[in-house]
Amino acid sequence: MAAATVSDAMYVLMPGRKHYVPKIDVRPLKGKGVAVSAQEDMPMGHFILAEAPIFTLPIVRGQLIILGALMQCEPEYQTKFYEFFNCWDETEEITKELGIFTTNAIPCGGDITSGSLPDKEGIFFFCSRINHSCKPNVHVQWVDWVHQIELRATRDIAYKDELCRSYIDLLQSRRRRQQQLMEKYWFKCRCEACSLTGAELDASDNRRRTVRDTLDRHFGGKCKDAHEGLREIQHALDCIDKEGLPMYEAVLYFFGFHLCAASGDCDSAIQWAIKAREAYVRMSGYALDELLERLANDPLCYPDANTMPKKTLTGPDSPLWRRGLEEASQDT
Ligand SMILES: [Zn+2]
Repeated sequence: MAAATVSDAMYVLMPGRKHYVPKIDVRPLKGKGVAVSAQEDMPMGHFILAEAPIFTLPIVRGQLIILGALMQCEPEYQTKFYEFFNCWDETEEITKELGIFTTNAIPCGGDITSGSLPDKEGIFFFCSRINHSCKPNVHVQWVDWVHQIELRATRDIAYKDELCRSYIDLLQSRRRRQQQLMEKYWFKCRCEACSLTGAELDASDNRRRTVRDTLDRHFGGKCKDAHEGLREIQHALDCIDKEGLPMYEAVLYFFGFHLCAASGDCDSAIQWAIKAREAYVRMSGYALDELLERLANDPLCYPDANTMPKKTLTGPDSPLWRRGLEEASQDT
């Protein structure tokens, strides 16, 4: 794998942002192929870069499709494409081109919170080179209307720290995560979360399962008791905090808003909507900012407002939750 230079960023950033040079470094790292690292301190939520794909392909793809896409690339990018790592190199199960693409592809769309799949994936000059962690310090978000991904810090990152993103659904047990990484990328993950043992590992697996179960229940509209639903959401937020996975926060806060607005408790709904907006902007930028701000200003404009039995509930920061969380955390 050839090392990239920061000036290469000039070619791949979105139109209108060509002056922007991300403060990152890409270079070979012993035992890890290539590593991307921070060239400055980056606080949580820090916008690191926006990047357009070299090209995208549908999820169902074959050799002819990928060769067609490559032929439409500038010759310079055709050369760069073959410099990417291919984890399928020695298996001979798929062609070289499909191996390179599959190794480095990033979903363009879909939703990590609901588990919905994208209809296409892309290969990116910088972001495709970022290694995996099950406790990533950066979050990649596809922004469809500008056809690019944006990269933000999920926690405070120090100068020279390696940047790590996630390649898979993180709300799974370690066993399942490692199985998926081995099947698709041929490596055994040794990240901080995968290095846990004994009771700490069990607790981590339980917390991730709790968050997945909570998201599935609320996406599926299975929560019929608003008070119980808020308790579940608070517990899931606590689990996310302990697992260091803030990219799942915004949707949980939004479900809190949904339950309060549906129960006609505008004061609590406003507090949940404000939290949802803050969490969303931190991880994903401003794409849904206006919508969430409108809901925070007027919860009754939400289509599901007043559709559940009327109840007085609580906001996300209510001290009433602490006792419940302390009881629940004894199990996780
Ligand atoms: Zn891991």
